[in-house]
Amino acid sequence: MYGKPLPIVDALGAPTASSNASAHTKSASFEYLTTRKDELVGWARKFSLFPYPFVTACCAMEFMAVSASAYDTDRFGAALPRFSPRQADLLMVVGTVTQKQAPILLKVYEQMCEPKWVMAFGVCATSGGFYQNYASLPGIDRIIPVDVYVPGCPPRPEMVIDGIMQLQEKIANGKHLIVNESF
Ligand code: SF4
Repeated sequence: MYGKPLPIVDALGAPTASSNASAHTKSASFEYLTTRKDELVGWARKFSLFPYPFVTACCAMEFMAVSASAYDTDRFGAALPRFSPRQADLLMVVGTVTQKQAPILLKVYEQMCEPKWVMAFGVCATSGGFYQNYASLPGIDRIIPVDVYVPGCPPRPEMVIDGIMQLQEKIANGKHLIVNESF
């Protein structure tokens, strides 16, 4: 009763022109709706980021600076840090990550709900920085996917804000799957 409607066919069983036109109209309508839906959901998501700060080292001072009133990340909808991964959708890895911390970082990432994004904050999180030794992770992208890299040791608050804006651009232009063609 709720299955897919059967196509209209002619006497030989081939789909008729009206059947093809109807399928084309349905597909075009679905494409139009999904495009508008992606724009709307992308716009809402890009201005409602909830960061989880995974802070391990000196970059923390820059994180505090960028979160304070002078730079005011509230202007970008990213001002409210959450300290539970289940309530956050932006993992900000701020500082050096050691090999021993790597499984903890992975667990935090896995506990975050989809959709989620990751920012490598500073060169230590991006590439291990100047710590060329066995104890440091040479970049968090060895264990989790990264959406935006912010260079600098430490990065200036303006660079972090630029990183947030680039991530917002990525979110706004992304696909936001909520329904599919057979919903
Ligand atoms: S990038 Fe520089 S400031 Fe940031 S954690 Fe590494 S050493 Fe410290």
